[in-house]
Amino acid sequence: MRHDGAMASPVIDLDELVPIVGAENVLRDPEVLAGYAIDWTRRVQGAPSAVVRPGSTAEVAAVLAWADARTLAVVPQGGNTGLVGGAIASAGQLCLQLTRLDALEPVDVLSAQVTVGAGVTLDALQLAARRVGLRFPVDLAARSAATVGGMVATNAGGLHVIRHGPMRAQVVGIEAVLANGTVIGDLRGLLKDNTGYHFPSLLCGSEGTLAVITRVRVQLVAPDAEQAVALLAFDSADDALAAAAALRHALADVSAIELVLADGVDLVCRSFELAPPFDPPAAVLLLVEASGPAGVLERFAAAVASLTGVLDAKVADDAERSAVLWRYRERHTEAIALLGVTHKLDVTLPLRRLAGFLSEVRALIERERPEASLWLFGHAGDGNVHVNITGVAADDEEIDGQVLELVARSGGSISAEHGIGRTKRAFLHLNRTDGEIATMRAIKHALDRNGTLSPGVLLP
Ligand SMILES: Cc1cc2nc3c(=O)[nH]c(=O)nc-3n(C[C@H](O)[C@H](O)[C@H](O)COP(=O)(O)OP(=O)(O)OC[C@H]3O[C@@H](n4cnc5c(N)ncnc54)[C@H](O)[C@@H]3O)c2cc1C
Repeated sequence: MRHDGAMASPVIDLDELVPIVGAENVLRDPEVLAGYAIDWTRRVQGAPSAVVRPGSTAEVAAVLAWADARTLAVVPQGGNTGLVGGAIASAGQLCLQLTRLDALEPVDVLSAQVTVGAGVTLDALQLAARRVGLRFPVDLAARSAATVGGMVATNAGGLHVIRHGPMRAQVVGIEAVLANGTVIGDLRGLLKDNTGYHFPSLLCGSEGTLAVITRVRVQLVAPDAEQAVALLAFDSADDALAAAAALRHALADVSAIELVLADGVDLVCRSFELAPPFDPPAAVLLLVEASGPAGVLERFAAAVASLTGVLDAKVADDAERSAVLWRYRERHTEAIALLGVTHKLDVTLPLRRLAGFLSEVRALIERERPEASLWLFGHAGDGNVHVNITGVAADDEEIDGQVLELVARSGGSISAEHGIGRTKRAFLHLNRTDGEIATMRAIKHALDRNGTLSPGVLLP
């Protein structure tokens, strides 16, 4: 018996989870755990005590209440495609793996909304929408594994933010479980409901630190009648960004503007045996997509023809040829991952600072880490650049700090769409004031008094 006045921690017996989720959903074999213990970039290695796989909201609530009563930390994990290590449970923590929450309700065609389990993949959601002639407008290359719950928790952006906004803009209802097992939220999908704090807004981007998202209701949109894609070659980022701005002014139908550079395109071509898009190779390429009602193709062709600074162009107006052009952009993340551990610094710059940043960050890496390789690409339409550094030690946080300081000095955000997770939390102060971080902590404490959910993620 303890006599020091402190509360004794209850003994933790993982067998107690078996009646809640079933023995087959309490994974403890070290070889099996290994698959859930490392992040997609292979930079963040964890060591969860167990992986628990609940199959319903009630099971999530029961697991959380059990863990909270034992002050046992729980880290939610969806598809584990996150790029900042937020889904990785450290030693002694539980990994709450949510892909069994994969129920997809029938689409409510009247409201063009659908309610899905947090474990439903983006691919499955997009397919369900297409089956009834609608479309889910968020898209990203990890679509076959990324889950709706993970996408809400990270407020994922993706390829069409300039037209449809990030995940936050699509969520019209949420169901989530607080650390103590309380279920909150609603899935009515009311577009107007001003009855106090808006839980979907609070949970979008909360990275598993405030609640476990169990179900989400999302808004769908009408499909576009026509779509066209152009790959445009330029001499410089300045020329490319000027053309991007001109295109957006000329055409309301632009749905994606992506920027890639010669070295990244060359890497993609070598990694996946693709033919180079242009000969000679261009220094900077824009992948531009336009989609909308009938007539887009002519408007797009006219707008592209009027651009200045375009050295060469490839245009596709059918799905198959569009997909071929998209590969030069979409396969960057995979190609870079083949090189080994990658420092992924996903940042946004004000558009007027973007071209300057691309040169400044290259000069910084050449000066500070001459042995490293730098790979830059991104969603140029919204100022988002993915800064990828390979050839440096996985734990080299100093170089991350130097890049992120440059971003903050340039008026940008140190996380455009991937979140803060574990890899960027030491740098949160570059974008958030002490008062803001204290406010975030207060919100966290109000919802998760014992600090059960994802300690070590997001908050410094
Ligand atoms: C090839 C590739 C391309 C990508 N492209 C993009 C892109 O264009 N735009 C973009 O924004 N991201 C992109 N990503 C990153 C990633 O796909 C997104 O962050 C995605 O939202 C993560 O979903 P997930 O289910 O894999 O979440 P996980 O990686 O499992 O988790 C991510 C975070 O969410 C939390 N979480 C997961 N599920 C829940 C839940 N149900 N409740 C509460 N918290 C939860 C985790 O704890 C963690 O903090 C890309 C990744 C890859 C590998």
